[in-house]
Amino acid sequence: MRKKIVAGNWKMNLDISEGIELATTINSHFLTSPLEGKEVILCTPFIHLNAVSAIVKTAGVSVGAQNCSNHKSGAYTGEISASMIHSTGAKNVIIGHSERRIYYAENDSMLAEKTAEALRNNLRVIFCCGEVLPERESNAHFDVVKRQLENGLFMLPEDDFRKCVIAYEPVWAIGTGKTASPAQAQEMHHFIRGLVEKHYGTKVAADTTILYGGSCKASNAAELFANPDVDGGLIGGASLLKDEFCNIVKAL
Ligand code: PEP
Repeated sequence: MRKKIVAGNWKMNLDISEGIELATTINSHFLTSPLEGKEVILCTPFIHLNAVSAIVKTAGVSVGAQNCSNHKSGAYTGEISASMIHSTGAKNVIIGHSERRIYYAENDSMLAEKTAEALRNNLRVIFCCGEVLPERESNAHFDVVKRQLENGLFMLPEDDFRKCVIAYEPVWAIGTGKTASPAQAQEMHHFIRGLVEKHYGTKVAADTTILYGGSCKASNAAELFANPDVDGGLIGGASLLKDEFCNIVKAL
C-alpha cells in the first residue's frame, strides 16, 4: 500500500547518548501528536539501532539502518549483516544512498545483492536513486535513474518489490542546501512511477511509495510534498534537529 513516510537519515552523527536523547524526544512528540496514518523512520548508525529500537514504541515510528552487507555472514571484518540489523528490532534499511555509491564504490550489482539480502531478512528497503549534477546538466538524469532502478530493484518479483520504498535523491541537492524545485521533483517521481508501471503494472505503481531527498527542510517540505507523486521525504541534516524534523513530518 502507498504510504506517507518521513525517514530521517542521521548519517555518521550523534554519539550513543545524543542518539538516545533525540530518539526519546521524537518518540514522545509523536505520542502526544499522533501520526494519523503517516510513518516516521529513524535511520541511525548501526551502534544506535538496538537502543533506539527499544525507545521507539509510538505507533507509526520505526527504526532503520543506513546500509547492510551483501553477504549473509562470515569473514567480512567490519561489516553488518541484514540479519544482525533485524535482530536489533530495526525494521528498515537504506540501500544505495549516493554517499555509499560514491565513497564506497557500491555498484548496481552489489546493491541488488544487498536489497535481496535485506528482504530475505524481513527488512523494508528504502532504495535510493538519483543523478549527479553533470548528469542532470547533460540531460542524462532520466537514463541514470532508470538504470539504477532496473539494475538494483526491478529484478525483484512483485511480492518483494512491494516491500520496498524508492527514494529519489538528486545528488546535487544532498547536503548542499540546493533543493530540487517542486516541479523537478514531481517530474522525476512521475517518471519513476511510470517505470514501475512498465515493470509491475498499474496497481503496483499506484501503491509504490516514492520519497524525495535533498536539502528538504521545514520551510520547503510542504511545497515538495504537495506534488501528487511525492509521498514523503528522506531527510539528512534536518533529521538531527528535533523541531525541524517534526515540522517536516507535520508538512506531509
Ligand atoms: C540524505 O542524506 O539522504 C539527504 C537527503 O541529506 P540532506 O537532507 O542533508 O540533503
